[in-house]
Amino acid sequence: PSADHYQLMEWATRYFQNQLKTAPQAIDYLKGRGLTGEIVKQFAIGYAPGGWDGLRQTLVRSAATEAQLIELGMLIGRDGGGSYDRFRDRIMFPIRDRRGRVIGFGGRVLGDGTPKYLNSPETPIFHKGKELFGLYQVKERHRTPARILIVEGYMDVVALAQFGVDYAVASLGTSTTADHMHLLFRTTSEVVCCYDGDNAGREAAWRALENALPGLQDGKDLRFVFLPQEHDPDSFIREYGRGAFEQKLDDAQSYADFLFERLTRDLNLSGEAGQNELANKAIALIRRVPEGFNRESLLTKLSVQLRWGENEKRLREIFHR
Ligand code: ATP
Ligand code: MN
Ligand code: MN
Ligand code: MN
Repeated sequence: PSADHYQLMEWATRYFQNQLKTAPQAIDYLKGRGLTGEIVKQFAIGYAPGGWDGLRQTLVRSAATEAQLIELGMLIGRDGGGSYDRFRDRIMFPIRDRRGRVIGFGGRVLGDGTPKYLNSPETPIFHKGKELFGLYQVKERHRTPARILIVEGYMDVVALAQFGVDYAVASLGTSTTADHMHLLFRTTSEVVCCYDGDNAGREAAWRALENALPGLQDGKDLRFVFLPQEHDPDSFIREYGRGAFEQKLDDAQSYADFLFERLTRDLNLSGEAGQNELANKAIALIRRVPEGFNRESLLTKLSVQLRWGENEKRLREIFHR
């Protein structure tokens, strides 16, 4: 990727920021979501106007830049030649890489249109499964954050930051990947997952756990916050405040408890069939955890669950088979 790619994305960011200044409906939308001007500026949130070629008119100076903006996903090429703006009438969230360069955008409709969020496509500089919205800002504020929160949405990251919880990141419309988990564990020793309280959020939490297991080296910890059904982090902190939210973080469930709660929820552990099923499922997951403290403590917890406590050796034999 050439340096001009990043330059163009920076110009696009500034263009969207300028457009926001003269778009009262977009400003009203952001105010209606409770965002302050200060936080909007901090995240360089902007607005893509409703026409078909506002960005195109502003940034295209030659056939070469047009081709580049198409490659960057900012313009969509027409079959017969020419192009038009991908993002129209949307609130624009710039996504930055680790060095702070804008590599993509998430764009939200102002009302109830679909899709609710439109993200940049994969481009030479933007790889969704590898980037996290907000990570650059977290690292700007904390050289070595004690913990990092992972949430679902852009709005969650921005709202939390506005309330002083300035150590949250979001994956970009994908579920949390193994790459995300490795990236986070390179930066912090504790990751706390705090997804939406709905069923989708609970499932996302389970997938995140599965993806995180290989990253649980000694000293690394993973915990889970489960919000009330109707809430996400944004709505929760607005309704109950920072104190209540941080209380939730302090009470977060350990990954081990979540793992066993989930594995045992439909099993009858008083019978041998249920015990064997738990042992098989748990062992398959525990094998993904690196050798060391985390793996050992999961094995000990498993033997307690199986009521094999007095016979933990048997379990370890099965594990190493
Ligand atoms: P808001 O509060 O603005 O309604 P949200 O972040 O709570 O947004 P969710 O529906 O919970 O929205 O979705 C969580 C995240 O999933 C979004 O922030 C976005 O990154 C992604 N997402 C949601 N809908 C889509 C979509 N249609 N296409 C791509 N990504 C989406
Ligand atoms: Mn949701
Ligand atoms: Mn929301
Ligand atoms: Mn949400």
